[in-house]
Order: sequence, then structure tokens, then C-alpha cells
Amino acid sequence: MKREDLKNCTFLDETIKSLIIPIEKVAHVHLNNSLEHALLVLVKSGYTAIPVLDKDSKLNGVISKALILDSILGLERIELDRLHDFKVSDVMELKIATMEMKDTFAKALALSINNPFICMTDSNDSLKGILTRRSLLVYLNQELFQRKSLD
Ligand code: AMP
Repeated sequence: MKREDLKNCTFLDETIKSLIIPIEKVAHVHLNNSLEHALLVLVKSGYTAIPVLDKDSKLNGVISKALILDSILGLERIELDRLHDFKVSDVMELKIATMEMKDTFAKALALSINNPFICMTDSNDSLKGILTRRSLLVYLNQELFQRKSLD
């Protein structure tokens, strides 16, 4: 793609509000939940990872099936009892990809390279929703397809 073509991709500068899954529809767990509860939510929802919130709905981390399984691996077997011993806050990932509603599509695209979803927060770190890599790709595909059909 030529530099001139890229300049015409105005959607890269647009905000990503319309692509966001709102907080009401985001599966999540709380800091004090047991790992057993988190695993149930993850398995039932079919998601690989979900956000972790505190009691004020502030984003604190992300918990995944892989992190939970890793935390209950013994030397020779999976120690299921540990699911009750640990809380979500003990094993969650603290490094989270976050953006604000006003941020651009281009920023979301760059973050999505290494993150299957991005957490949308406000200036108080409250979770407002998430943006998935899938929804970004669907949107990008539509934009490029439209462009091609206009040529
Ligand atoms: P997708 O691109 O739709 O396959 O979603 C990628 C990842 O984003 C999923 O594996 C989950 O970790 C997360 N995700 C997607 N939708 C939701 C949701 N409604 N609630 C919580 N996490 C979600």
C-alpha cells in the first residue's frame, strides 16, 4: 500500500466507540473470587481470558484458563484442591492492554497485535467495555472491501 493510499484511510483516525462490547455484556470476576469460581465462569462462557474488577468496578487485571491451570500444576499431577486455596488476585495478570473511548482505531489495531482483547477504561480506571481483535478485523475487512468495490 502506498503512503498516499494510507492517507485516505480516514477510519484509522476514527474513535472505536461503536465496536465496543459494553460492560453489561462483559463476563468478569472480582479480586476476591476463588479460582474455582473464575474457572467456572471461563469454561461456561467459553472465553480464554476475562477482566478482573474490584468492588468499585475498577479494572485490576485479567485472569485466564492458562494462568489458573498453571497455578494448580504440581510436580506430577494437577492439584485441584488449590482451586480453593487461591483467590483470583493471587494469580491474575497485572499487565493489561487498555484504551479510552476517545482513542483511535489505529491505536486499537496496534494493541490488538499482542492482545486478543483490549479493556476500555475511563479516567478513573473503571471498566466501560472491551474491544476484541475479532471486531477490529471484521471492521477492517468491511472498510477494505468497500474501498475495493469503489475502485
Ligand atoms: P473473540 O475475538 O470474540 O474471539 O474474543 C477474544 C477474547 O476476548 C475471548 O477469548 C475473551 O477472552 C474476550 N471476550 C470476548 N467477548 C467477551 C465478553 N463478552 N466478556 C468477556 N470477555 C470476552
